[in-house]
Amino acid sequence: AQAPLIVSFGEMLIDFVPTASGVSLAQAPGFVKAPGGAPANVAIAVSRLGGRSAFVGKLGDDEFGRMLAGILRENGVSDAGVRFDSGARTALAFVTLKEDGDREFMFYRNPSADMLLTADELDVDLIQTASVMHYGSISLITEPCRTAHMKAMEVAKDADVLLSYDPNLRLPLWSSPEEAKKQILSIWNKADIIKVSDVELEFLTGKESVEDEVAMSLWHPELKLLLVTLGEKGCKYYAKDFHGTVDAVGVKAVDTTGAGDAFIGALLRKLVDDKSALQDEPKLRQVLKYANACGAITTTKKGAIPALPSEAEIFKFLDE
Ligand code: ADP
Repeated sequence: AQAPLIVSFGEMLIDFVPTASGVSLAQAPGFVKAPGGAPANVAIAVSRLGGRSAFVGKLGDDEFGRMLAGILRENGVSDAGVRFDSGARTALAFVTLKEDGDREFMFYRNPSADMLLTADELDVDLIQTASVMHYGSISLITEPCRTAHMKAMEVAKDADVLLSYDPNLRLPLWSSPEEAKKQILSIWNKADIIKVSDVELEFLTGKESVEDEVAMSLWHPELKLLLVTLGEKGCKYYAKDFHGTVDAVGVKAVDTTGAGDAFIGALLRKLVDDKSALQDEPKLRQVLKYANACGAITTTKKGAIPALPSEAEIFKFLDE
């Protein structure tokens, strides 16, 4: 039998990461071309950890699009669900790195190819054979990819595929904060697993706190696991019958791009092998320790995909 498949739906793009931190975009001495896009990062995170993954989305039929499809394949991610748009360009993001390793983005999406995936272009068979389908919220911003996103979720749900959701808020891409919140929450109750960052928790609840009551206000009856990532403080988890915190592992962060994607990729990679961790707190804590380590290691190198670790690196790191 084949290993369980993790399908990641959404955007893939090129991050232009500056070669210096703490300077404005215009002052950057140079840029490194780093493939990214949260759902693609997750697909590659899974694969690099030895899991079976596929990316579903649309790229431009241009130099960047072909480069990205090549990167998926080189990393062992199936591109069977990738479509190419002959008219639109591949999305680009220009990153600004702050002194503390945090980052800001400016996007070229006017519209970019990822936004033009249609429901008819979905590889339905691929989604139906998955164990988990992961997605974000950027594909909800405009049509036709919004409808494609909704159909992908419906196909997955009907086939008993677990739905994993990381809203991955990118405010500048939305027409307004209110619209972002409304759309992000519009698919909330369909997910089995949801991961938000502390910043997203505050945004979605309007409360400036990561107290348990605030996180639990985002709980919905069908949810199996809610995660709140806290950067250098690790993560909080909320399941039906238990909740708690798993501390981060200490590292010197140089670029946090992709930490959340690495975290969720590692989590899903482990969960598909043993879904009972969703109901078993000691098992879940083990999985989250692994996911925290994966996130932490990713912050120690520049870019998202280039920084994603192998399983061996995680184990070496956890042993030390
Ligand atoms: P996001 O990228 O979605 O904002 P976080 O920055 O919270 O997510 O990172 C996801 C996970 O990666 C965290 O839960 C943590 O385990 C790990 N991580 C992120 N930043 C650091 C850091 N500076 N030190 C150690 N671990 C980190």
